[in-house]
Amino acid sequence: MCIFCKIVNGEIPATKVYEDEKAVVFEDVNPVAPTHLLVIPKAHIASLNDVAAEHAELLGHLQLIAAKMAKEKGLAEDGYRLVMNCGELGGQTVDHLHYHLIGGKLLGWPPFTDIKK
Ligand code: AMP
Repeated sequence: MCIFCKIVNGEIPATKVYEDEKAVVFEDVNPVAPTHLLVIPKAHIASLNDVAAEHAELLGHLQLIAAKMAKEKGLAEDGYRLVMNCGELGGQTVDHLHYHLIGGKLLGWPPFTDIKK
C-alpha cells in the first residue's frame, strides 16, 4: 500500500486539516512555505497519467477543496499556488495523485531549479 493510502486509512500519522468521503488534506511533512498542504483523493490514483473521464468530478472536487482551504488559511486574498507534479521529470516523488497548496510567501516563477541528471 502506498504511503498516502496509509495516511488515508490512519496507518501513518499525519496532521489532517480536512476530510470528507472522497478526499483528505494534510500538512506536508517537509513544507516549502508557511502553508504547504497536500490535497489528495482517498482512492489510489498513481498520477495524472492515470486519470480518465470518470475522474473529472473527483478532480474538480479536489480543486474546490483547495480553494476552500486557501480561504480558510487566509491565503486567498494575497494569492497562493496549486501544483500537481507528474512523473519523474515533473518532480513527483509519491505515486498517489496530489495537489500541493502552497502559500504564505512570494513564490518565484518559473517554479523549478535546474537539476542536473
Ligand atoms: P511530490 O514530490 O510532488 O510527489 O510531493 C510529495 C510530497 O509529499 C513532498 O512534498 C513530501 O514532503 C510529502 N510527503 C512525503 N511523505 C509524507 C508524509 N508521510 N506526510 C506528509 N507529507 C509527506
